[in-house]
Amino acid sequence: MDAMGDEPTGGGTVVYADCVHCGEPTEYPESVKGSTLCPVCEWHEAQRTACSG
Ligand SMILES: [Zn+2]
Repeated sequence: MDAMGDEPTGGGTVVYADCVHCGEPTEYPESVKGSTLCPVCEWHEAQRTACSG
């Protein structure tokens, strides 16, 4: 029995937005406007912008 469900660990229910790049859950709630990126894609974006120019 190894369910990979998201089990609430107490507290309120926070729905996180999906990453616009890979679909992974981000650290941002769905109420956040604009494109949300997961930590991984955010890091990649940072590298891209850091290298441009
Ligand atoms: Zn992502």
